[in-house]
Amino acid sequence: MGRRFNKTVLSFHAHPDDTEAWCAGTLKLLKDKGYKVVIATMTAGGMGGINSTEEGTIEMRKEEAKKAADVLDAEYYCLDGRDGFLFDNTEIRLASISLMRKVNAGIVITHLPMDYHSDHRTTCNIVESAAMISSLPNVPVGEEPLEVTPLLYHSAPLTLTDPIGSAIVPPHFYVDVTSVMDTKMEMLSFHQSQIDLMKVMHKMDDFFGVAKQANADYGKLVGVDYAEVFWQHLGGGFQRETQIQDDLKDFIITR
Ligand SMILES: [Zn+2]
Repeated sequence: MGRRFNKTVLSFHAHPDDTEAWCAGTLKLLKDKGYKVVIATMTAGGMGGINSTEEGTIEMRKEEAKKAADVLDAEYYCLDGRDGFLFDNTEIRLASISLMRKVNAGIVITHLPMDYHSDHRTTCNIVESAAMISSLPNVPVGEEPLEVTPLLYHSAPLTLTDPIGSAIVPPHFYVDVTSVMDTKMEMLSFHQSQIDLMKVMHKMDDFFGVAKQANADYGKLVGVDYAEVFWQHLGGGFQRETQIQDDLKDFIITR
């Protein structure tokens, strides 16, 4: 089984609701296995408001994210990048390293490098770069270096395609989240502001239903009712221990 990593999982995505949509079921299963869950967003999703200003939307969405995190007794952090205008820079990488160290992250989950949304791709780059050097003593932040580089995993984009529609490498594993869909949907339900937004932005009348359907579609591929999908970052620079797959072995399906 190899080295064991600290049982704190940091779900580090771009916007409030990304964690809930793509990996909340898996986080609940990990929590039930004794993990501490931390949820962080690079932005507060300030553009995601229809009848509120950017500032008002930021305030509202941080509240929604906090309530969703509370369901898993998870801490919630926001790095206050600007929604829709997220750029990779020194400051935000250092803030990301500080957070990983502060919570002593053993496992980090972020977007896939070829996700459909540019904020998601930027987040992936920031998180991957930050995680890569989070154990190095020369990084100029106040927190003590992590003992070891955390394991890095990637969550699903909206579909199993890259931004121009080509099929991507199949998920490394599927997690059967059927038994925890209630928890996942409860967490999503706190993001009420997104229902109206999705109606305008994507002509999507039932945002929560669409998220649930995505899990049903992934589940259908492997013969369960609902599944979340993941890739482990195995391209170099990170450890290859399969801790999530081992600890959730009863729920893991590989194809
Ligand atoms: Zn997002």
